[in-house]
Amino acid sequence: MRYLISSTLAWAVLAGAVATFAAEPEPAGKGKIRVLLTTGGHDFEKQPFYAMFDALPSVAYTKAEFPKAAELLKPGLEKEYDVIVMYDMVGGITPEQQKALVELLNGGIGLVSLHHNLGAHAEWDEFHKIIGGKFFVKPGEIDGEKHAKPSGWEHGQRLKVTVADPKHPITRGLKDFEIEDEVYNQYYTSPKVRVLLKTDHPKNDPELVWVTRYGNSRVFYLMLGHDHLAYENPNYRELVARGIRWAAERPRTRAE
Ligand SMILES: [Zn+2]
Repeated sequence: MRYLISSTLAWAVLAGAVATFAAEPEPAGKGKIRVLLTTGGHDFEKQPFYAMFDALPSVAYTKAEFPKAAELLKPGLEKEYDVIVMYDMVGGITPEQQKALVELLNGGIGLVSLHHNLGAHAEWDEFHKIIGGKFFVKPGEIDGEKHAKPSGWEHGQRLKVTVADPKHPITRGLKDFEIEDEVYNQYYTSPKVRVLLKTDHPKNDPELVWVTRYGNSRVFYLMLGHDHLAYENPNYRELVARGIRWAAERPRTRAE
C-alpha cells in the first residue's frame, strides 16, 4: 500500500511536470497571419472596427496610427508582418518612407486597402499604381485623362453587391449580398486590376472590389467599410478575412 501511494505520487509529480512543460506559453500570434493595421487621417467608429478585427480568425494585428505609423515604413517590416491592412487616409509621407513602402511591396509583403484608403497619398502618383485606383480629393489627372471634378461620396445607401468573378479564391463560393454603406463615385480604377465584385447602385461606379499586383505584393482593395453597418455585416467580415488570407501568401508559396 505504501509502495502504491508513493508510486501514484511519483506519477502525479511526473504528470505535473509534463503538464507544466506542455503549457509553456507560445509567442503571441504564433501560427497566425501577422497584420499591421494602419489608421489616421480620417475618423471612424473605433470600437466596432477593432471588434471586427478581434473576431477575425487566424489574424494577429498590431494597431499603427499615422503620422506615427510612417516611422514603421522601413526595411525589415516584411519579416515582422505578412500583410499591411491600410484603413488610413494619410495625406502624405516623406520620400524616404515612400521608397521604403515600395521596397516592402517589392519584397512581397501583402497589402489590403480598405474604403477611404482610396483617397490616401493624394499627392503621390505611385500610390494609385500600388492599389489600382484613386479617390480624387481634388481634381487631377491620370495617364493623360483629366478628372475635372473631385470624386463623390454619400452615406447611408443600400448597395446590391454582385460577384463579378467567381473563379478567384476570394470570391469562390461567395453569394451576391446587400449592404448598408457609403457610396463613392467618379473615382479612378486602373484597367490592370481584376474586378471581383461590382454594384449597380446609381451613385457608385461599378467597380467595388478588386485585386492587383505591385512588385511582388498581392494587393486587395475593398471599397466597402464606412462604419459599424459594414463592420458588422457577415459578408463584409468574410471579405476582409479572405482578402487578408489571400494577400498573406508570398510568391514563393503561391499555388496559382
Ligand atoms: Zn467612409
